[in-house]
Amino acid sequence: MASSAQGVTGTVTLTIDGREVTAADGTTIWRAASDAGIDIPVLCHDERYDPVGVCRMCVVDVGAPAFAASCVRACENGMQVTTSTPELERSRAMLTKLLISDQPPPERDPKQTTTGDNELLALAERFGITGDGSALPAASGRGADLSSPVIAVDHDACILCDRCVRACDDIQGNDVIGRSGKGYGTLIAFDLRDPMGASSCVSCGECVAACPTGALTNKPIRDIPIRPRSELDAVDTVCPYCGVGCALTYYVDRDKEAIAYAEGREQPGSQGRLCVKGRYGWDYAASPQRLTVPLIRLETSYPKGPLSADVRGDMATGGETSDHGTTANGDPGQKRKGGKRGRRPGGLVDYAEVLPHFREATWEEALGLVARRLSEIHADGGPGAIAGFGSAKCSNEEAYLFQKLIRTGFHTNNVDHCTRLCHASSVAALFEGIGSGAVSTTYGDIRNAGVAIVTGSNSTANHPVASSFFKQARRNGTTIIYVDPRADKMADHADIYCQLKPGTDVAFYNGIMHEIIRLGLTDDEYIRTRTSNFENLKKTVEDYPPERAEQISGVPADTIRQVAQAWGSAGPGIIFWGMGISQHTTGTDNARCLIALCAITGNIGKPGSGLHPLRGQNNVQGASDMGLIPMFYPDYQKADDPAVRSRFEQAWGSTDLDPVRGLTVTEIIGSALKGGVRGMYMLGENPFLSDPNINKVRKALSKLDFLVVQDIFLTETAEFADVILPASSYLEKDGTFTNTDRRVQLGRKVLDPPGQARVDWEVVQDIANLIGLGWHYETARDIFDEMVTLVPSYQNLSYDNLGPHGKLYPNPDPARSDGTVVMFTEKFNTDDGLAHLVPAEWLPAKELPDEQYPYVLNTGRMLEHWHTGSMTRRSYALDAIAPSALVFLHPDDAKELGLEEGDMARVSSRRGTIELATKVSHRESRGNCFIPFHFREAAANLLTIDEIDPFGKIPEFKFCAVRIERADG
Ligand code: SF4
Ligand code: SF4
Repeated sequence: MASSAQGVTGTVTLTIDGREVTAADGTTIWRAASDAGIDIPVLCHDERYDPVGVCRMCVVDVGAPAFAASCVRACENGMQVTTSTPELERSRAMLTKLLISDQPPPERDPKQTTTGDNELLALAERFGITGDGSALPAASGRGADLSSPVIAVDHDACILCDRCVRACDDIQGNDVIGRSGKGYGTLIAFDLRDPMGASSCVSCGECVAACPTGALTNKPIRDIPIRPRSELDAVDTVCPYCGVGCALTYYVDRDKEAIAYAEGREQPGSQGRLCVKGRYGWDYAASPQRLTVPLIRLETSYPKGPLSADVRGDMATGGETSDHGTTANGDPGQKRKGGKRGRRPGGLVDYAEVLPHFREATWEEALGLVARRLSEIHADGGPGAIAGFGSAKCSNEEAYLFQKLIRTGFHTNNVDHCTRLCHASSVAALFEGIGSGAVSTTYGDIRNAGVAIVTGSNSTANHPVASSFFKQARRNGTTIIYVDPRADKMADHADIYCQLKPGTDVAFYNGIMHEIIRLGLTDDEYIRTRTSNFENLKKTVEDYPPERAEQISGVPADTIRQVAQAWGSAGPGIIFWGMGISQHTTGTDNARCLIALCAITGNIGKPGSGLHPLRGQNNVQGASDMGLIPMFYPDYQKADDPAVRSRFEQAWGSTDLDPVRGLTVTEIIGSALKGGVRGMYMLGENPFLSDPNINKVRKALSKLDFLVVQDIFLTETAEFADVILPASSYLEKDGTFTNTDRRVQLGRKVLDPPGQARVDWEVVQDIANLIGLGWHYETARDIFDEMVTLVPSYQNLSYDNLGPHGKLYPNPDPARSDGTVVMFTEKFNTDDGLAHLVPAEWLPAKELPDEQYPYVLNTGRMLEHWHTGSMTRRSYALDAIAPSALVFLHPDDAKELGLEEGDMARVSSRRGTIELATKVSHRESRGNCFIPFHFREAAANLLTIDEIDPFGKIPEFKFCAVRIERADG
């Protein structure tokens, strides 16, 4: 230990309550005391936020005339600190008394709830103070705000500590809360003192988690009361929605066997943050619509086809829908001016209409039928007649077992999942370029970046918690360049925003590279030692001077020069990209450009630099790692490599694995249409809504000889099933999940599955055994242990060493290390260890706008919803916040079309027509429209084109030509 008189460089030594303590320079007294196990009470302080020292609860005696606020006062060499004296305790008690005197009495509003962790009440208890609200003026003028569906605001309970303001601004970067008013009338305000529910609040709940009183509290969901933590069971697990994979804890009321609320949990990536889906979107599992018993289609319900009236109608012309007299989810506020009220029914599959076509069966009968029919089709049609769609919502163990079943049971590589619809082109380009499909660094590494490009990613909606780190990085000096046809909220947080025309990414990035090379901003040593094919790349981008790039992309040449300058000179840089890059027929070319841009500037393999395709689903990385793809066995070992095949035959005790690559999602649908694939096992996928050109999907599903759907709800796809198996939700099983950062985390069982619903891997194992595979897994851990032996990237990981935060892979020493953040520090995973630069020429999209279809349609997600909406539309909070389908239009386009906010619009492409409400949005560019694809009553994928990228085989979800008109036009 350093001497107390001198200290050592970078540290100071002081005495706290008589104990000598050494701390790093700049450490606050509160932190140093806390590290030494000395508790100093606080109210306004939370270590995650910049300290403000306003509440004075944490004051300590430093020998000066006045007490010092320990949360802001830094330690000094030789300082003598006393944290508790009768005088200090009197001061704290008095403060508490003053604060508690005008707190509302708990019985004032029985609807008000608290998590039971009211820090002010805990202090009152400590000092023996009781509050009865007697000092609260009869009409304080502050009152309550219950306008948010999920958060209750009681201004009278607010002590103006600003914790919520800092949580909203500094942590989530949402900048919604401020202060308003003067004197006793001062209160926290949302935007311009709007009701919270009408403000720009995105319901992330970070302010609730921050509030030390009952001022901001969660409202009960599904009438499950929010009781004190001590009365609830805490289960540590991971959010089931997006690839960010935020760690959280569910607080479970065991009397009611239901979740009362969720809270973010500390983890190196998400750091306790959540978005609205993670914090409030978990009650879908308790929906009365859960499937609870196996179902078999009635003989009278053949020939097969959709069973819902709205789907049976001719959706391609948009005219033949039944009118159930309600709007989507009964949305009362939806303005229907000019439209046909209630034209599209309800939003979810109508159980009353569909269920009568099925009869209940025992598991034995249903599984027996599945095994028999799939075996018969296989015997008759060979391996090519069978295909399986797994799910990126399922665990690694389930993905591994599912592909093993399809490969060893039916000897085909026809197994795929939604990665095909998400980042297949990114993965294709990454494998070609750097020999690995995973991210080269974590999203949190942005804190070390001088510059970051966020492109083709509506990250505040799709990866909200990752975006909070992007926003935070900018506040700390990282230059953010945002590139997207839509001016999403990230544009508000960018130093440079480039609103390029849809489908022009290659031209734009070639323009940037042209300029970087011209200005000599390349890292020549890196290019020489770590890349190949630079000269060809240089030759290609020579043809893309900024002026030509401007002509194609619409981004001004000067802005392109500015981006090149910033990227080439601002220090280490990371590129984050989403499906705006990948979901194009040129998706692989788009990603090739990003890889080249990073590589020629030396931006892969050092802190704060790299490539990060933000993965969509919670386990899309893991499902791909586990080989739930037709061209790879687990860990991306090539399916058509004889040596790999022989290794897996040996490991799995199988003699005749398929020697050729299988069909992808879209190819399977095409094959089914032609009678090639005849039997399918669909585990947790809903291609009827998620795949492009769904009229074609509908025909393909109708043609199948046999379809088994394993899911938690009756989905649109299940309407075509012969057998429906009730599955377990994410909350009802143990398993591991791998997030976008390569972090493998344990998801833990929170609740029992309802009725006869079963854990998915057990069902897969039962089918395997009925077709004679002889599997004997007892637990998910058994599967993990086998899988790790075949997945070198996961080497060393086990259920025992994943710990509460999970671990990044690769990880040579999980007992001591969180894992590898920055990959490829020395060489890439390619055969020669070099990054292969692949030049790309710009190609236009496949279906350009014309006179008949003059607008470009872009599809994607909303913050509140997930994919086909089967979970989120059954979540009270998410459905309440975003109940209906919308088409987002530029104000001038809307005006030209005679559409106002809320008016019903009819959107048609060459493949179909939908009707939905207009959202006038300044975030769109002229000539473009955006439609989220979650809503079956206005299914965006009726319009999309099923052209695919030739390498990644990903469909063009982001570009097709449409016509827009008033629905009554
Ligand atoms: S819920 Fe989130 S966005 Fe809304 S006010 Fe609170 S912190 Fe801000
Ligand atoms: S950011 Fe993604 S993982 Fe995190 S809470 Fe939201 S949906 Fe869940």
